[in-house]
Amino acid sequence: MPFVTPRTLGQYDVIVVGSGAAGGQTAYTLAMEGARVLMLEAGRKYEPESETPMFHTPGQAPLRGASTTDKPFGFHDATVDGGWQVPGEPYVNTSEDDSGRFDWWRARMLGGRTNHWGRYSFRNGPYDFKPRSRDGLGFDWPLSYEDVAPYYDRVEMLIGVYGANDGLENTPNSPPDCLLPPPKPRVSDLLVAQRAKRIGVPVVAGHRAVLTKALDHRNLPAKLHPGNPNAQAILASHMQGRASCFWATPCGRGCSIRANYQSTTVHLPPALATGKLDILVNAMVREVKLGKDGRARGVVFIDRTTGQAGEATARAVCLAASACETVRILLNSRSAQHPQGLANSSGKLGRYLMDTVGSSVYGQIPLLEDLPPHNEDGATGGHMYAPWWLYKEQLAGKLGFARGYHIEFGGGRRMPSLGTFDGIEWVTGGSYGRKLKEDARRYYGSFIYFDGRGEMIPNDDSYCEIDPETRDRWGIPVLRFHWKWSEHETRQAAHMQKTFGEVIQEMGGRVKGTIVTDGAKAIAPGGSIIHELGGAIMGSDSGNSVTNGWGQSWDVENLFVTDGAVFPSNADKNPTLTIMALAWRSADHILDRMRRKEL
Ligand SMILES: Cc1cc2nc3c(=O)[nH]c(=O)nc-3n(C[C@H](O)[C@H](O)[C@H](O)COP(=O)(O)OP(=O)(O)OC[C@H]3O[C@@H](n4cnc5c(N)ncnc54)[C@H](O)[C@@H]3O)c2cc1C
Ligand code: SF4
Repeated sequence: MPFVTPRTLGQYDVIVVGSGAAGGQTAYTLAMEGARVLMLEAGRKYEPESETPMFHTPGQAPLRGASTTDKPFGFHDATVDGGWQVPGEPYVNTSEDDSGRFDWWRARMLGGRTNHWGRYSFRNGPYDFKPRSRDGLGFDWPLSYEDVAPYYDRVEMLIGVYGANDGLENTPNSPPDCLLPPPKPRVSDLLVAQRAKRIGVPVVAGHRAVLTKALDHRNLPAKLHPGNPNAQAILASHMQGRASCFWATPCGRGCSIRANYQSTTVHLPPALATGKLDILVNAMVREVKLGKDGRARGVVFIDRTTGQAGEATARAVCLAASACETVRILLNSRSAQHPQGLANSSGKLGRYLMDTVGSSVYGQIPLLEDLPPHNEDGATGGHMYAPWWLYKEQLAGKLGFARGYHIEFGGGRRMPSLGTFDGIEWVTGGSYGRKLKEDARRYYGSFIYFDGRGEMIPNDDSYCEIDPETRDRWGIPVLRFHWKWSEHETRQAAHMQKTFGEVIQEMGGRVKGTIVTDGAKAIAPGGSIIHELGGAIMGSDSGNSVTNGWGQSWDVENLFVTDGAVFPSNADKNPTLTIMALAWRSADHILDRMRRKEL
């Protein structure tokens, strides 16, 4: 019985808390290899196959699909529960200023944020695992690119990622069979690539978790589950149930044909098909409970439908509730032996919270005006991107900040939605009636945006802790955030602005507004890029970190963290592919230890 109730819980080898990228991957690996797994998810059951409004037009939605507090990314967005605010589940900031605030996006649904995410899927490079060794800042990981590479291979083969191998510095190639072909560039992509090259910015195929062709169900299952015919058969059948993208609908609404990666369409169905995975939805985990032997016994959860507390037990516990929620669970798992929270003997729990550095510039390009009508919906997000290109200049100390950024950009003639021509007066100077229609046709497809996504270096002033006063609707103490950017990040944001202005200039275009030269004003608030990581960082020294390189807590040997809380650095590469690679690696380790009866 895959979906269980608090009354029908069974006996389990492993409890997995959370069902997003981290929980989905952890449970998938464990269940496919035979472990009995209970997944606890705070949100409701969600089935993209039947629930996504992927074909709805804006006119079918209230307010034509405009953003509201309930649906910050618009009415049709896949996040059925969650957002910047979750009713009854507050959090506290010590500052409301843009520079000292941490915005926390939470999804409360089966599959978490993977139902919605942008699906940019980049590998960290070798430098990204050893940043301190390169420039003396932040922390090295207790593992190297070579340790994680086989797991990147596996995740790419399992979820399906399009991209190409470009052989660029610290931007690893994938072995054959890992990547799917990238989609054709849009017209605006080609123009960006041509003009950005003039100022030395390389533009190459993007990497996103979207099937540009069907997965190779004949060969991939054996590579992913060698020696396990049952898992291979399940996966082969599941892969045949995923269609390739038909380039027509916004991925952020979810994908009923399973062409993009969502935990709910990729990880959970095969894991459930093994019969080894039980899922308990509406189960808000409050704390990890220890047995008399000091090992994790299980977790206490609140049934959100009744408000009743319940307990689930297993041989091992994996926390994968998203970085900050995992930290919150650990901080709330206080006991006489662990008065500062569980797994916190180092005092580092909650510390070194990171997000991605973000800054954006919009432009309008006359060369792209009045193009003949054509459809450029494509695979929703970027077909191309620009990896960080100034490693040598940076190493030579020429930039004034450490670590780099990549550029995500977009333009083209896509399905118009509410707001497509919003504020068009900045190019038309204001027009009405027939002239407005002519202007709309002329300028449609000539707008372009550039988003910088850069590395933040962990610092002592960015962390979370339990607020002594505030509790959520379930009576669970909530997090309080402290946030501060360093000059490395603000200077990087200013560099993004300058670069984007130069690219737009090379394209013969004009910038909307002005290029912001003050990095402190150019940088997006903490948390707003929704790549939060850290808080339970891994390391090689138990005095300075919360877990070892397997995500295993130093203090409790059968307690693991398999989400982004363990990241000791946040490379410019969007984190989710790495979260999944590490989760697979940790799950493999747990299976190995269990087989040897060490857990
Ligand atoms: C708009 C947007 C765009 C993004 N784009 C990208 C992108 O292009 N590339 C990229 O790499 N990343 C992107 N991300 C980030 C990406 O979604 C996250 O990195 C990823 O989902 C993290 O996986 P996770 O499993 O740790 O957390 P989540 O996916 O958030 O899943 C956590 C799950 O745990 C559940 N949970 C939380 N607390 C508890 C509890 N106490 N008890 C039980 N369950 C609990 C939640 O309900 C949720 O379902 C984006 C995110 C957003 C919102
Ligand atoms: S663009 Fe492709 S992958 Fe995205 S939702 Fe539409 S069909 Fe699915």
